[in-house]
Amino acid sequence: MLAGLMRRAERDLVMIWQKMNASASTTSCLMIKIKTTSVRALSEGIKATFAAAEEGGTAPAPQVYDLVLQAVGRTPDGRKIAAEKAGVAVTDRGFINVDIQMRTNVPHIFANGDIVGQPMLAHKAVHEAHVAAEVIAGEIQGNKELAAAAFNARVIPSVAYTDPEVAWVGLTEDSGLVRKAARSRRVCSRGMRQGATRA
Ligand SMILES: Cc1cc2nc3c(=O)[nH]c(=O)nc-3n(C[C@H](O)[C@H](O)[C@H](O)COP(=O)(O)OP(=O)(O)OC[C@H]3O[C@@H](n4cnc5c(N)ncnc54)[C@H](O)[C@@H]3O)c2cc1C
Repeated sequence: MLAGLMRRAERDLVMIWQKMNASASTTSCLMIKIKTTSVRALSEGIKATFAAAEEGGTAPAPQVYDLVLQAVGRTPDGRKIAAEKAGVAVTDRGFINVDIQMRTNVPHIFANGDIVGQPMLAHKAVHEAHVAAEVIAGEIQGNKELAAAAFNARVIPSVAYTDPEVAWVGLTEDSGLVRKAARSRRVCSRGMRQGATRA
């Protein structure tokens, strides 16, 4: 029922992705502003019916698919891994709280990534993992500088790992943004012709 792809991203950055993928088979059957009204397993496949999500819109005819994947978000699974058996506190929602060094309430157990809270993003998880590894290595080696590592991000960019990638940070134009710049270094380093960076 999307009104547009990558909803929180800058619209004209999304357009670059859309343009570059316009002929791809994945986008030729994208349905936007359409809601799925029913899904039924039949002997010939999985039959889905649709309706327009907005008044005056049109809906495609029912389709029969081999497979249907429902992707409606993610939930933390701190409870499912029985972290509490190791003494690690898990919140009611399934998250594990950590300090800025990624340390849980059990001092020698660290946690990072989706399980420690929002935003659930891959590069945040990786950066947190680096912090935890540095703290652990610093403590083992008696290296005070490493042991003082901390996750101190002032802002965390959002990155959609699509092709091309779309990344944004801070306010978007809808919320009152600013100025347009040239292609980013990342775009150039990948030898791509399209691309834009806004600041
Ligand atoms: C469809 C999809 C698209 C995404 N797109 C983006 C994107 O464009 N940009 C972005 O920044 N992020 C994206 N993400 C989010 C990103 O993948 C996560 O934020 C990131 O993977 C979190 O890393 P993690 O290490 O916390 O968890 P994970 O990457 O999930 O790693 C957890 C690992 O633990 C393993 N595990 C689980 N239980 C056990 C157990 N009991 N014993 C041993 N191992 C276990 C799992 O198998 C898994 O390998 C996307 C996620 C999904 C699902």
